[in-house]
Amino acid sequence: MNTAVRGEREPPPAAVARPRPPTVRRRRADPGTVIALHVGGAFIQGCVLGPDGSPRASERWFTRPERGPDAVVDSVLACAASLAQGCRPAAAGVALPGVVDDASGRAVRATALGWHGIPVQDWVAEHLDLPVAVGHDGRTGGLAEARAGAGVDCRNFLYLSVGDGIAAAPVVDGRAVPDGHGRTEGLGHVVVRPEDGDPCHCGRHGCLETVASTTAVTRRYARMTGWRGVTAREVYHRADAGDPHARVVCTDAVDALARVLASEVRRHAPERVVIAGEPAGAGSSRLASLRDTLAGRLVSPAVPELRLARFGDMAGCVGAAFLARDMALKGGKPTAG
Ligand SMILES: [Zn+2]
Repeated sequence: MNTAVRGEREPPPAAVARPRPPTVRRRRADPGTVIALHVGGAFIQGCVLGPDGSPRASERWFTRPERGPDAVVDSVLACAASLAQGCRPAAAGVALPGVVDDASGRAVRATALGWHGIPVQDWVAEHLDLPVAVGHDGRTGGLAEARAGAGVDCRNFLYLSVGDGIAAAPVVDGRAVPDGHGRTEGLGHVVVRPEDGDPCHCGRHGCLETVASTTAVTRRYARMTGWRGVTAREVYHRADAGDPHARVVCTDAVDALARVLASEVRRHAPERVVIAGEPAGAGSSRLASLRDTLAGRLVSPAVPELRLARFGDMAGCVGAAFLARDMALKGGKPTAG
């Protein structure tokens, strides 16, 4: 899919978060078509899922949470409207980071977006005049891989997404279940560097995301070298090519990931770990490095198979589309992910 990062079209920050009137007039829906968004700390990704079940168009907007929570809400609504205008969707799905109440469709707490108690489902539904399903991005990513990706043939796997945020969800019998971190913001906020860790947007220091997320890898490499704008994937490639600074940054990231992943494997004993985004996107050598580090930390259970996610960093978005399609098939009623 071709994606172009957008941002210039985003409206200026609003003073007060509020429900917006519908701007997309509902037309006769194509029952096999849905739209979906994944709202991340760096990007808002959108896709259209056609009747054949494959994502066939996408959008990618800057999130820019530093503009404030209301401006992020506006961008989400504008991106959703842009997607809906290009097709005749029967429903919409939204994947969110942080603590998400799937039943009410609220972002309970998403510090990456500056959101607390945002009724995403209600606002997007009102804006588009469509039924809307909302889910946690780790669980929607797991759902996508279970239905049509790297977990199709696996009864019990752990989905791990490593992007600008880090999320995970155990998937059992095709259903993504809560990751066991209760009302916390999940795996990305497990503290791995309590002594000297960088500050995290959640308010703590030394969370996994401050070491192993794509933004952390980019930031830490820039701090060491002065090179700004080098993507996390490029940093991984530079590490493979022998760049000593990149090696330090990437080794730290993989070690921290392996440490937290080992704990999840002990807890859930998955047959397989399906990994989306970095470091998997940097190639199989990185996956082998993660496997070796994990093996050093696990005695029992054995190291599960590690496999790349089919949908990559779009898995959360595609899973939200599946939620939306389930909802459309049930006549607009929410279904659990
Ligand atoms: Zn944190």
